[in-house]
Amino acid sequence: MLEKFIPPYNATVVDKLNDCGAVMIGKANMDEFAMGSSTENSAFFPTHNPWDLSRVPGGSSGGSAASVAADETIYSLGSDTGGSIRQPAALCSVTGLKPTYGRVSRFGLVAFASSLDQIGPLTKDVTDCALVMNAISGYDERDSTSVPEPVPDFTACLTADMKGMKLGVPKEYFVEGIQPEVNSAIQAAISKLEELGASIEEVSLPHTRYALAVYYIIAPSEASANLARYDGVKYGLSHEKATSMWENMEKTRQYGFGSEVKRRIMLGTYALSAGYYDAYYLKAQKVRTLIRREFDSVFEKVDALITPTSPTVPFKIGEKTDDPLQMYLSDVCTLPINIAGIPALSIPAGFSEGLPVGMQIIGKPFAEETILKIGHAYQQVTEWHKEKPEL
Ligand code: GLN
Repeated sequence: MLEKFIPPYNATVVDKLNDCGAVMIGKANMDEFAMGSSTENSAFFPTHNPWDLSRVPGGSSGGSAASVAADETIYSLGSDTGGSIRQPAALCSVTGLKPTYGRVSRFGLVAFASSLDQIGPLTKDVTDCALVMNAISGYDERDSTSVPEPVPDFTACLTADMKGMKLGVPKEYFVEGIQPEVNSAIQAAISKLEELGASIEEVSLPHTRYALAVYYIIAPSEASANLARYDGVKYGLSHEKATSMWENMEKTRQYGFGSEVKRRIMLGTYALSAGYYDAYYLKAQKVRTLIRREFDSVFEKVDALITPTSPTVPFKIGEKTDDPLQMYLSDVCTLPINIAGIPALSIPAGFSEGLPVGMQIIGKPFAEETILKIGHAYQQVTEWHKEKPEL
């Protein structure tokens, strides 16, 4: 849809990085309009996982994650609406952070689901992640959802001291559907955090089971509204053979959008339509509030939560393309965090037969420092993040 479109201005995050002297190496491949978990929905070609070229790098920011894992670049940016920074970070064994909703300006980001989208870094370790966060965070008058919170120096919290830290392990994230090898790697990582001085407590987030359904009503609803702007007039593609404005719009959208994008537009348009709005969209918004409150109450007891990032290690290219529900389940551990608007970090936590496993560290609103500190402490006593794929 955006073929030959040249953006007339930079995103705020790009301007901020340029101000720091960053050198732009390129734009990375991704799922079309950030819809997907494998980069197979790219309008161009699938990206391969550097750890095993027959497998996916995750998605939607699969190119961003693969380019960091393959040492093509020092760091990259991604956007995360339901897991698109953290899940590819986990599958490619790099560090990825989804900041708190409002922490980083989205001015210049192509909107997918406006109440969920955030931009964040994909890096080789937590220290680099903190450095990139220093550069891109902060209020921007051109994004009304960015928050005028003071931005700390995210590197200042990187001490290896975990004494007194209380970590919760939500039992709903360790159930059927999580691969046993993922489970055991995360259990080992939790023991490591305990050795470092953290206290571990099992907690419960019972509404987690509704998160996937809530996400797949809210995200497509917002997407159907956001994607209405691609009308063949304002951006990129415009179908040439149309005889009227309406035919042009219809044909442009028919040929310009891929099948997953069309599926989301149909789901969202249905959920928002008169007669269904209350039953789907409004209901989903109410459950969203319950999910957010549940996180609030758990965070009265603990400083952060530990879960797997992805329920599986990287899967084969083509394995899930015919089964959208299986593909959607790839984000079952990450999307509750976007629904709640809170920050979460994914860091390498081991390998199963050479395939990466990622650990997710979830924090309170605007407590990126806490989760970076935990991730950094873990990276001081483990070597997973230093392993390189053979290329
Ligand atoms: N995989 C999820 C989806 O397809 C999340 C995508 C994202 O975070 N951009 O919607």
